[in-house]
Amino acid sequence: MTSAPAPTSASEGPALRIGILALQGDVREHERALETLGAMAVRVRRVADLVGLDALVLPGGESSVIDKLSRAFGLREPLRAAIAAGLPVYGTCAGMILLAEELEDAIAGQQTFGGLDITVRRNAFGRQQESFEATLHLPVLGEEPVAATFIRAPEVVRTGPGVEVLARLADGRTVAVRQGNLLATAFHPEVSGELRFHALLLKSAALRREVRRLEAS
Ligand code: GLN
Repeated sequence: MTSAPAPTSASEGPALRIGILALQGDVREHERALETLGAMAVRVRRVADLVGLDALVLPGGESSVIDKLSRAFGLREPLRAAIAAGLPVYGTCAGMILLAEELEDAIAGQQTFGGLDITVRRNAFGRQQESFEATLHLPVLGEEPVAATFIRAPEVVRTGPGVEVLARLADGRTVAVRQGNLLATAFHPEVSGELRFHALLLKSAALRREVRRLEAS
């Protein structure tokens, strides 16, 4: 297990409350990662589930299905509003697609929540390489490399000026980015027990909770 110690709560108050969009995809793996780090994981299926969250995870799965379900459940606009208001969000794979402002190879009518000023190409690694593993070095996570699992993964083909590239594959393709409180990876750290990305999310969540507490006092 390659976890960095994470602040799991603000200096006062209960454990951080982290939502996982649970319309489709690998919800359980994220739940396990967040609970291992001491946070409270909350499955988000309805608008009411968004209340009181300190951060949100958008899991991997099928982005077009999650998009359709989020609209059917009336979640799209509240989610967009929450992202615009600064909610820390971590998207893996399909979750990265959902955070992108712009898509390539989307299905007809496919929408995203947006927020990250990137263009993402869906299913960028073709048939022969639908799934693979790679070892990545991310200075932001420290010395220890990341064992990254890619499953019909997207690729970031454009990053706007405010976007920080966190990881590239050996061939130069961008696969992890951050912009403000939004973090996204084309791969799945949650399937290999890698906890440092979730720990980063919890750090943003703790900071935001602290700022809001100070503002309210
Ligand atoms: N190819 C999927 C999509 O377009 C993403 C795959 C994944 O999340 N593992 O949504």
